[in-house]
Amino acid sequence: MFLRIGRSSGAVLLSRCLLTGGLSVPKAAWSRNVTALAVGRTRRRRELFYYPNEVCFRNCSTSQAKMNCWNCKQLLDSVPAFFCNSCKTIQPPAEGESYFKIMDCDYTFTVDTQKLQRRYLHLQRFLHPDNFSQRSAKEREYSESQSALVNRAYKTLLKPLSRGLYMLELEGMHLEEGTDSGTDSAFLMRLMEINEAVDEAQTPEDAEEIGRDTRGKLADLTGQIDAALHKGELHAAKALLVQMKYYANIEEKVKGKLSEFM
Ligand SMILES: [Zn+2]
Repeated sequence: MFLRIGRSSGAVLLSRCLLTGGLSVPKAAWSRNVTALAVGRTRRRRELFYYPNEVCFRNCSTSQAKMNCWNCKQLLDSVPAFFCNSCKTIQPPAEGESYFKIMDCDYTFTVDTQKLQRRYLHLQRFLHPDNFSQRSAKEREYSESQSALVNRAYKTLLKPLSRGLYMLELEGMHLEEGTDSGTDSAFLMRLMEINEAVDEAQTPEDAEEIGRDTRGKLADLTGQIDAALHKGELHAAKALLVQMKYYANIEEKVKGKLSEFM
């Protein structure tokens, strides 16, 4: 339940990219988000949020380079490409591609979850292995791996906690389980009290009240994390995500308690 935070070399690489001001990045490498930038945003914010992951982050993929269809050899016109536009054949998954890109979502903590859900259903309708039962072994394999990748991307981006952790990972920071990250003791004491209160709740109303408070706290943290990320305050965002992790655990515990009353 305790978390330790470390930095990977990706962060160093990122700082290097930031130092160069992105000048070495080919124009074509910028994601479409860059062009959607509102005028007047600060340079720092732009670089943090709209820097193309695939160019300078640890999770670099080579998929940014244009690929050819494995079947008809035509150049694929998008990255990631799920199908070839020419022969309509399913393509191998772009492993290492940013989940935000796979799900066609803006790279931001306040992701549009309704859009995310629509994209998920849309992709799965076409990628689902059931659609490929009569196709070649290769196509069946690609549909299974594409479908699994989309599932993973969707699940990661859907919940604020996993989304935030994933964003920190893309920025080169890790939250590893096992050790305390220096969360202050007053906070831990408070959490222990809430945990005890859940254990001791005598009625569904008692448990529900704690659940309400916890959801409020989580909503509060979501706003704070978003603000910290937008300001480029990664360490602050990390500390807030650790708090979110604790509150998310309490939320689960309350759910468990409520089911005991049923
Ligand atoms: Zn093709």
